Amino acid sequence: MSNDALPRQAELRQWSAREIDAEGNVGLDKMPRLATAVVDAAGPATAVLKCSKDQQGRYLVRTRVEMNVLMTCQRCLEPCDVLLGTDSVLACVWDDVTTGELPAEYDPLVTGDVTDLHELIEDELLLAVPAVAMHSTEECQALSVKTTDDVIGEEVETTTRPFAGLSELLGSSDTN
Ligand SMILES: [Zn+2]
Repeated sequence: MSNDALPRQAELRQWSAREIDAEGNVGLDKMPRLATAVVDAAGPATAVLKCSKDQQGRYLVRTRVEMNVLMTCQRCLEPCDVLLGTDSVLACVWDDVTTGELPAEYDPLVTGDVTDLHELIEDELLLAVPAVAMHSTEECQALSVKTTDDVIGEEVETTTRPFAGLSELLGSSDTN
């Protein structure tokens, strides 16, 4: 079920009235704004939508979206894996005017009769993109270099050995 592509369009107010749930995938090729914010994706986004009405008759869409993407680590400039994930409760509104009347736990979804689900999923993921992506401290190459530089005494000796081996390698490749 979750391997299916999410339909592009939905009449979410009808889905909410009929309490329809849906899940599916959205590929990065369907989300051009997200594609400019990340380097690549490990696979498509997975999305789960649960539609319902609340007691005030609002049309609600509970969304859970996850996607594994590659971004550039701002410490070492190598690619790093980032899991984008969001959980939201969206309330369908016709315009920005009604947005202010929503309870704080709802996020407004300004939409007409038909909603572009791919744009909706893309909007959710864009909110989850970190301003600065970085490896964890254990994984980051910039930090592992810095750590060995900071080590004093006999351990400095051991960190210089790979460079000696490297110069031998470079010398042998010059003779080829
Ligand atoms: Zn890094």
